[in-house]
Amino acid sequence: MAKRVSIEIGHGGTDPGAVRGKILEKDINLCVGTELKRQLERHGIEVLVNRVSDVSCKVSDFLAKARAFDPNAGISVHANAFDGKAKGFEVFRNTNAFKIVSNLLCADIEARVKSLGQTSRGIKDGNFLMSSLPCPTAYCELGFLDNPDDYKGFDTAEKQKAFAAAYAKGILDYFGMSWLPETSPASPASEASKAPETPKKILYRVVAGSFSERANAEARAKTLKAKGVDCFIAEYVS
Ligand SMILES: [Zn+2]
Repeated sequence: MAKRVSIEIGHGGTDPGAVRGKILEKDINLCVGTELKRQLERHGIEVLVNRVSDVSCKVSDFLAKARAFDPNAGISVHANAFDGKAKGFEVFRNTNAFKIVSNLLCADIEARVKSLGQTSRGIKDGNFLMSSLPCPTAYCELGFLDNPDDYKGFDTAEKQKAFAAAYAKGILDYFGMSWLPETSPASPASEASKAPETPKKILYRVVAGSFSERANAEARAKTLKAKGVDCFIAEYVS
């Protein structure tokens, strides 16, 4: 049976989360969460997210849906802000009956994030909204957006997607599943194979003879031209 994961993509709509100038936590979370969903689904995992765009979400509505979804794991996707100096990844395990497995899930995610090159502040205790689900949870803060140095590690969609891939790998590790590498979308071969097939255009050609000697073909062309039929000689290999 397919594994199921609920993802809370933090904030959204009128709630920007942490803010530094034009940098809004809700935007980073949406990029990471959406990519995490895609990566997990690519591995046959069923995913429920609270939002797929920049909208406000009613937490209680999502939790009711997430509970009915009966997930094997719950992931919260957030970014941090503090005093401009704090840096690094931080992940919170729940401290309820799922504490031990929640710790395993957090440790698997943390290990994959560290291999991205991001430092970790460690696994901490913290019961946030997803902790009320009957499954282990990991509340992930990828880094501190108010620390310019830390923010460099996730200042583009590409880098944010790398965090999402690290989270996905950690979740797969926890489930005992293998990461399936993606074929590069930039490679011309895979692009060509993905391109939708355009219907072939049919052309109707009038053939007035095929000849093994070019001289005979020229003689036929001359006859046709004399009758006012425009024509040309095309060579082909039989
Ligand atoms: Zn947040």
